[in-house]
Amino acid sequence: MDSSLAAAYTSRSQAARAVTETWVAENLYCPSCSSETLDPTKPGTKVVDFRCPVCTEPFQLKSQSHPFHSRVLDSAYEPMIQSIANFTVPSFLFLHYNPLEWMVRDLFLVPRHFLSPSFIEKRPPLRPTAERAGWVGCNILLSSLPQDARIDAVRNGIDLPPGDVRGAWSAFSFLRHTTAESRGWIADVLACVREIRRIEFTLDDVYAFEGRLGELHKDNRNVRPKIRQQLQVLRDRGVLEFLGRGRYRVIRVPQTR
Ligand SMILES: [Zn+2]
Repeated sequence: MDSSLAAAYTSRSQAARAVTETWVAENLYCPSCSSETLDPTKPGTKVVDFRCPVCTEPFQLKSQSHPFHSRVLDSAYEPMIQSIANFTVPSFLFLHYNPLEWMVRDLFLVPRHFLSPSFIEKRPPLRPTAERAGWVGCNILLSSLPQDARIDAVRNGIDLPPGDVRGAWSAFSFLRHTTAESRGWIADVLACVREIRRIEFTLDDVYAFEGRLGELHKDNRNVRPKIRQQLQVLRDRGVLEFLGRGRYRVIRVPQTR
């Protein structure tokens, strides 16, 4: 990264913002199409930091000097849920840099087609004494996402081939053509399938997640039929194969970390 940009800032966080945004503008390509560049949005644009000049995919950059863990603080809760419902939510770029050498250590992408309320945690309202008393923020639950939703572009300082990144992105871009509710169900069941961590599994293995899925979809009492329906979608999209008698085999595996 170009650390000379940091010299213009007294605030460490503003310096980091300038350096990481410039790095993205100069180095990152669009994972959603063949564009070799992403354009920064106008300063002050809310939520969206970059946009693809070709396919218009919006991105929000989150950068920090330590690795990302299970949850990441984001903006206000209700607008986030609304933007997921109407699909104006941006895709996310999670950039972890080394602050001593100003090096990009890791960069992973989360396509917005994977985002659903299941992966957004409502935070407690700010205290009455806070400047924005009562304001409710949210966390993105990275650890709850299916592994397929976290696409590595840089790992331990090494760039991954753009073809692999774009392939991992497009493998689930069919979710964009479904309803917000369907996207949520498919992503949730896929997360369960990945959590089983076996190439072959049974319907009962997935039914074991019935309680969790019921919690995530409280208005749906027929969780088992919904599970079977999502497994069919995953089969139709080449993620799974049906072996018969309630047995399944994974065909598409996510990127390994
Ligand atoms: Zn694009």
